[in-house]
Amino acid sequence: MQKINDIRRPIIISGPCSAESPEQVLDTAKRLKAINKVNILRAGIWKPRTRPNSFEGVGAIGLDWLIEAGKEVDLPVITEVANAQHVEVALKAGFQKLWIGARTSVNPFTVQEIADALKGTGVEMLVKNPINPDLNLWIGAIERFQNAGLESVNAIHRGFSSFKSERYRNEPMWEIPIGLRTEFPNIKLICDPSHICGRRDILEEVSQKAIDLAFDGLMIESHISPDEAWSDAKQQITPEVLGELLNNLIVRDLETDDQSFFDSLETLRGKINEIDEDLVNLIAKRMGIAEEIGAFKKTQNITILQPERWEEIKNLQFAAADKANLSKKFIIKYLEAIHQESIRHQTSVMNKK
Ligand code: PEP
Ligand code: MN
Repeated sequence: MQKINDIRRPIIISGPCSAESPEQVLDTAKRLKAINKVNILRAGIWKPRTRPNSFEGVGAIGLDWLIEAGKEVDLPVITEVANAQHVEVALKAGFQKLWIGARTSVNPFTVQEIADALKGTGVEMLVKNPINPDLNLWIGAIERFQNAGLESVNAIHRGFSSFKSERYRNEPMWEIPIGLRTEFPNIKLICDPSHICGRRDILEEVSQKAIDLAFDGLMIESHISPDEAWSDAKQQITPEVLGELLNNLIVRDLETDDQSFFDSLETLRGKINEIDEDLVNLIAKRMGIAEEIGAFKKTQNITILQPERWEEIKNLQFAAADKANLSKKFIIKYLEAIHQESIRHQTSVMNKK
């Protein structure tokens, strides 16, 4: 059976959010096989749901449907486990690849229980990020499987719960999977645009972004009639639409041995380093002035934060940023960070005895 580490980039995993019937699983498998781009067939058997009385998966009966469909179309299969008992029955059914979901990765006790159940099995494990943006929790879950002696432990990025996102179901926060890559340079990093987007119209854009960020593959949910899916209907696409999405994807190489490319890249990187240094020096200069203001306010005994001044700064910078083609979202983040640091400098001056 083909190992994840032997699959050529991009590794494509697809199949329905949930297995619903033997026919649905087999039909999806055949249509996915026909697009000729899918490497691994997925389906959820046990579905962790936010509220009771929603569809919680068909349960163990669905394991054989997936195994049989995999054999029929000659594709390896993968499903989600959420406790040791799931592992036991999935192994019995013949699964050699498993993943843990975001609601499982958050719980070290459960992760450990699953890792213990997998000791000595040689199962290939994919670890989804926890629902909250905690890189260490994700790293910890991966380490638990590595420590159980599993040789193939890789990661799936499915985004993070957030109160404020309008665009995404789960905010991608790309810096977190990039942080994971720094920690584990050899790990295969798969992006799951379906659970990040929660909708169909931006799946392609997020998939392209992941590939541009050197992700090794994609897990995208696919259903034979997406609107009628028993779970995650809004984000699923037909196998044929998936085929189009994958055809449109531009997969750039991770490396090259063209020396002139490296020379030009080094020159540009040098320029970036210089600008970064200038930026730090400028910010330091700005903090120096903030301290002078602090000293000045102290002599008059007035408060540090003056709301109308903060509004004025923001409005001035929004206008400038707009002209310079910098996003408002970025400018807000940047100004808030600068402002907080300024307040810290002013406070240290004002409270000096
Ligand atoms: C899934 O892959 O269908 C799933 C339940 O995902 P997550 O754990 O990312 O919510
Ligand atoms: Mn799903």
